[in-house]
Amino acid sequence: MKYTLLALASLFFAAPALGLPQPLLPGLAPRGYPGAGGGGYQSNGRLLTFAQIEQRIAAWKKKYPELIEISALPGKTREGRRIPLVRIGKPGQPELMWLSGIHPREQQPAYCTLRFLEEELAVGWKSQRCLWYVPMFNVDGKLWEETHKDWRKNRVGNGDGTFGVDLNRNFPVRWGGGREIDSTWNDSTARPGADIFEGLAALSEPENQALDAFFAAHPQLRAFMDIHSPLREILFPAHSIAPDHARYLKIVTGMQQRQSDSPYSITKSKPGSEPAPGVRGGNSGLTYTHAYYSYGIYGFNFEISIPSKAKGVAGRYPSERDVAKEYETNVKEAWRFWLETAGELPLAQRGTLKLEGSGTTDKPITPNATLGWTPPIITGGAWSYAVLTSQDPAIVVPSEYRSSPLQNPFTIQVMPDAKPGTSVPMTLHLWDSERRHSTYKFRLEVLKKE
Ligand SMILES: [Zn+2]
Repeated sequence: MKYTLLALASLFFAAPALGLPQPLLPGLAPRGYPGAGGGGYQSNGRLLTFAQIEQRIAAWKKKYPELIEISALPGKTREGRRIPLVRIGKPGQPELMWLSGIHPREQQPAYCTLRFLEEELAVGWKSQRCLWYVPMFNVDGKLWEETHKDWRKNRVGNGDGTFGVDLNRNFPVRWGGGREIDSTWNDSTARPGADIFEGLAALSEPENQALDAFFAAHPQLRAFMDIHSPLREILFPAHSIAPDHARYLKIVTGMQQRQSDSPYSITKSKPGSEPAPGVRGGNSGLTYTHAYYSYGIYGFNFEISIPSKAKGVAGRYPSERDVAKEYETNVKEAWRFWLETAGELPLAQRGTLKLEGSGTTDKPITPNATLGWTPPIITGGAWSYAVLTSQDPAIVVPSEYRSSPLQNPFTIQVMPDAKPGTSVPMTLHLWDSERRHSTYKFRLEVLKKE
């Protein structure tokens, strides 16, 4: 294996010196990649164009017609494009989902997923899994990125001269929770020009609606993985009950152990923990927490990084040689472990828990108020944990997760510009220890200040 790697590395070094186009997905595309003939992608640091990704997948379909089905997510992008979806493996096998390209400027995710799946197909797709794969979720953003470097968001016009919502801040769980200042970014998710702009409401973006609709229509999905760069982390929801926490840990520590270089860090969490009352900030509107808390699909986030720890633009546009090396040492075997083990995770089921009324608050629901909301009595069985989301930006829920028995109310915040009389639709997701899911929909009304 080492010998092969060295040979490939020297090939990459040699190519630019000779002025030849660089091969993509080495070992798998020895004659070069369709569309890569111009060689332009290396001069601007991009590993793959959207056209190249589509051509690659069309080639899979030709080569493995019985294993590949190409379709699209149920919905279009903001600019009206389809979002390609690839089913790998046969129906009836445990179903899993991978997504890459929510942030187009991150070069590693699409490249590494394509390469990994191509290798798995070449050896006969031994995993016995049915994998739903979205190779490039943010298609509009990717096409823009191909001519404007370092683009992260989609392409919606924000009405103030800026463009784009960060699609990985637009899902409902803890949406609006990072508004003051996200310390990692030193920016606010409420600022339209920010790279982490969350949008005007949860699920405002058609791309997010499409993924949400896919989750809703696929109760057989066991696990979901969103692939990013350039951190060095394997993430999962920080708050979960003991049995789920143990399942998560088993998988992520197993992934770490398959890495031959320094392991990626994992989410710091302890079973039964919950966000502190009133705390606001960070991890708002993400894919994997939405998958887990709203649908019971075990959600993961894998951040690929090259060891140089290059920051900013340089970290997002590493050389193909560096990415290939990281893929071989810290990605490939970890992903193989995930494919093997995530298919054994238990499915979510329908629950029968019931509530009546709209609960109680410790203060009136008036503009600019921060208050605690306590649900009404829950009947029909024992609940284990609950997650609260809001469907209207007039109210946001920064402390969205509570476990049983309830000790702290959910924290909700009413926006300063919330109009009195607004009736805000809310959803409480109730889970029991057997992963049975009940949803409770109710409304909270914004009142006039006294
Ligand atoms: Zn990302």
